[in-house]
Amino acid sequence: MRPIEEIYPLLEQPRRVAIIMHQKPDADAMGSSLGLSLFLRRLGHHTTVISPTNWADWLKWMPGCAGVIDYEFSPEKAIAVLDQAEWVFCLDFNTLTRTRHMANRLRRLPATKLLIDHHEQPDSAVFDFGISDTEKSSTSEMVFDLIMTSGHRDKIDIDIATCLYAGVMTDTGSFRFPAASADVHRMVAVLKDTGMNHTQIHENLFDNFLENRLRFMGFALQHRMEVFYEYNAALIAIPWRDLVKYEIKTGDTEGLVNYPLTIQGIKLAALIIDRDEEVKCSFRSKGDFDVNTFARTYFEGGGHFNAAGGRSTDTLEVTVQRFISALTENASQLQ
Ligand code: 5GP
Ligand code: MN
Repeated sequence: MRPIEEIYPLLEQPRRVAIIMHQKPDADAMGSSLGLSLFLRRLGHHTTVISPTNWADWLKWMPGCAGVIDYEFSPEKAIAVLDQAEWVFCLDFNTLTRTRHMANRLRRLPATKLLIDHHEQPDSAVFDFGISDTEKSSTSEMVFDLIMTSGHRDKIDIDIATCLYAGVMTDTGSFRFPAASADVHRMVAVLKDTGMNHTQIHENLFDNFLENRLRFMGFALQHRMEVFYEYNAALIAIPWRDLVKYEIKTGDTEGLVNYPLTIQGIKLAALIIDRDEEVKCSFRSKGDFDVNTFARTYFEGGGHFNAAGGRSTDTLEVTVQRFISALTENASQLQ
């Protein structure tokens, strides 16, 4: 993988560009992709953003989101874009498996693949150009860096700022995680100077749910959470029937995994959800417990040091038992 800076001189020549992100995109995946797309359009490129799957309703206010193609819903449309693309930017993921059913097609695609990502252990051989930096708060920060270091600060308008702010704000837990560096705050100052309304963005992202989602959160905390004080860990395990009962949609469970970390002394929080098609796992930690390694070792996943995801092909009950065994194996790091 060659350094991303090598493409800067090539940015001036318009191309057909596809921008793709990980499945079930979060605000950083969506925000960085839309921000990059709007920026490249200002340089004259023809861009299309593709998501491997659908996304949460509370991302749909983002500038440009209405034009994003859902690969699962409109595969022919997405494939036509991919086949014509000269450049394919891959944002906020670093192994093709994170693009679900798109992965095999991407592997065979002749287009130049460019990576912009901040997750651990990238599959660098797959990409022609790119930047992978786990020190970065968010992919949105990395898109901001690309715009600035390629000499295009003047292209950052209110829409680009809005998309990038949504990504950096959510990936830093509203600027509380260690990755919320001085550079991140300087970035926010530049974004604010465009006239971007950060209060509105917070409301769009956090005060934009239906009643059922809040009722579900309450139910899950009351009835589905188990605390393992001997391991400084807590687990929320959600059976499929709860998702059906509360009419839970994509994105409605986001944030739930963080609640157990608000209990004094808890270092590891896990959320295991039976989504019917697969059992999905989320892990969050505080301090020196490495959930990237934990997710890779036990749950076919990965991510960041303090936030990672994975999956299981076992039933929910068996997955929960495997999680508890993993706790015992990691007791010394958790106590
Ligand atoms: P979440 O728990 O919100 O799904 O994921 C937490 C973080 O880990 C996110 O940054 C997400 O992109 C990443 N992540 C989730 N699942 C996987 C996975 O299977 N592999 C890798 N490398 N990262 C993941
Ligand atoms: Mn991210």
